[in-house]
Amino acid sequence: MRDKPYLIANWKMHMGPAAASAFVKDFLSQSPPQEAWVGIAPPFTSLERAKEAAGASTLQIGAQNVNPHEKGAFTGEISTDMLKEVGASFVILGHSERRHLFGEGDALIHDKLARAVSVNLRPVLCIGETLDERVGGQTESVLERQLSSALKGLEPAPNLIIAYEPVWAIGTGKVASPEMAQETHEIVRKILATHLGEKGAQACPILYGGSVKPENAKNLLSQPDIDGALIGGASLDVASFTKIIEASL
Ligand code: PEP
Repeated sequence: MRDKPYLIANWKMHMGPAAASAFVKDFLSQSPPQEAWVGIAPPFTSLERAKEAAGASTLQIGAQNVNPHEKGAFTGEISTDMLKEVGASFVILGHSERRHLFGEGDALIHDKLARAVSVNLRPVLCIGETLDERVGGQTESVLERQLSSALKGLEPAPNLIIAYEPVWAIGTGKVASPEMAQETHEIVRKILATHLGEKGAQACPILYGGSVKPENAKNLLSQPDIDGALIGGASLDVASFTKIIEASL
């Protein structure tokens, strides 16, 4: 099971370079617990300043998206090499906002994952069902499809991080109950075992995401198959992000 908890802040389209730098300095000045793996994913233009502010600390800085091509005529896009050059160590892929607002499909997410793996940029693969899919009893088949498509040909994927984020819980204030989240994480681990083997599945951190707050973090993060959290709204405030990290220990 988990060696340490993983906590990742997804800042979405918040925090310009100055705000990102100030946040990281403030966060680190409060000596956050060292026992957790902590990452922050600011917008592209804030990555370099966030990384500079992180200095030699163990805080990981990562991106929220990447293009699957090495380079070329892709106006408005950012490559894995560009991310690495500014110090990103991980990249969030397949976030539900990318899937549902920007039309990213399973095949594109697979290509992004393959690209990230090829340059050793740690992928944080987001998966999750919509409310209709849950109500329709399709949760397991959706997760199976998303995982199988993303991982095809990429096993054993030693550095992979999974974020299970029920779409209906992201940014809505509706949080899955700890029991429901645990049950679904068990399913995710079972599916992962068919791709990565039992050992690989046990070693892969599976994070929960969807309205995680200081008030609900402990109950969620004490579940045996919940290895950490991907946090949106509550990660924009140093005190609440730090409280969630503390609740994970
Ligand atoms: C997210 O952006 O991945 C997320 C889970 O957001 P929130 O915590 O705001 O629901």
